[in-house]
Amino acid sequence: MHTVLVTGGMGFIGSHTVIALHENGFEVVIADNLVNSKLEVLNRLELITGKRFKFYKVDCCDKEAMRKVFEENSIDSVIHFAGLKAVGESVQIPLEYYSNNINSMLTVLELMREYKVSKLVFSSSATVYGQSEDVPFTEESPLGFCTNPYGWTKWMIEQILRDCAKADPSLSIVLLRYFNPVGAHSSGLIGEDPKGIPNNLFPYISKVATGALERLTIHGDDYDTPDGTCLRDYIHVCDLADGHVKAIRYMDDHESGVEVFNLGTGKGTSVKEAVAAFEKACGHKIPNVIGPRRAGDLPVCYASTDKAERVLGFKATRDIDDMCASCWNWQEKNPNGLQD
Ligand code: NAD
Ligand code: UDP
Repeated sequence: MHTVLVTGGMGFIGSHTVIALHENGFEVVIADNLVNSKLEVLNRLELITGKRFKFYKVDCCDKEAMRKVFEENSIDSVIHFAGLKAVGESVQIPLEYYSNNINSMLTVLELMREYKVSKLVFSSSATVYGQSEDVPFTEESPLGFCTNPYGWTKWMIEQILRDCAKADPSLSIVLLRYFNPVGAHSSGLIGEDPKGIPNNLFPYISKVATGALERLTIHGDDYDTPDGTCLRDYIHVCDLADGHVKAIRYMDDHESGVEVFNLGTGKGTSVKEAVAAFEKACGHKIPNVIGPRRAGDLPVCYASTDKAERVLGFKATRDIDDMCASCWNWQEKNPNGLQD
């Protein structure tokens, strides 16, 4: 049986990927320090799959603690989700972001070398494409010019991984550049559970839909887009999870080198369209006002999905209505998120 170590597996994307891996016959070991997730996720995963996954509460930067994970399990591949991801916070506390995101990756890489684990999937982001307005973004689009430390950590780790793969031909690495993951598992048992007042659109709309927040502020409606609001490539988290299974399978046939794939739908949805779709899902209006533009926002960002489709055989199957319906199902069942 192929065993996958999923770092950050208790988080939003990681937990959905654990399910997809399990459903596709993989053994899963989770390592997460719970800095941005709850232990209750493990119970929820068991309710969904009937399986109690092996879990280590461990900081991926802590080499000795992580060595135990490699020592006690026969790991075949790693999916590295563990990282801090709040863009605004990364501007406030850059040192914590660089330290956590880069050191956790370096520690995992060192242990992979020590334990002769050669396959790695890394959670990168469309944010590495920086400020280019040349859409859709293909995997060859220019990189850099990131607008925040979070984005630079992804950009730097991608470079580190390319250097490591060049030096060690036994390594096979897949960089997945996610666009905007949203939605939740169809059970409504797990979903996105951010702390405090959300910054991202879907968690914010969800809180307005439950009445926890009064209204959504739409950040600008004077962009050069069909309805004046920004376009993003929202992708259902369960589609994204399936993309990880495809990436792991890809490495079975490609035992060397680095390959990069966008994971998106290839379709831009405006803020106003997202609000309308959510209203349809929850059955009532989402109060909103138009505010000023948010600093650093790209007017339009969506993926070219050709390479993922051609090489991985990956194509997102769920549309914006599915994303909103599943998001609302999760939100309605867990209005206060998960409690420990
Ligand atoms: P998340 O915060 O829900 O999950 C990340 C998990 O990693 C959390 O459970 C957290 O507790 C854990 N973690 C963080 N630092 C750790 C450390 N040092 N050791 C052990 N565990 C640690 O975030 P997510 O949305 O599931 O994102 C997963 C990955 O995908 C992240 O690397 C993120 O940067 C990347 N990504 C996310 C998005 C998005 O919009 N959600 C977009 C692009 C890329
Ligand atoms: N957005 C908004 N109001 C909010 C949060 C987000 O209008 O309260 C807009 C934001 O300006 C962007 C889009 O929704 O145009 C998606 O924002 P998000 O932060 O979710 O993703 P990102 O911009 O990082 O891709």
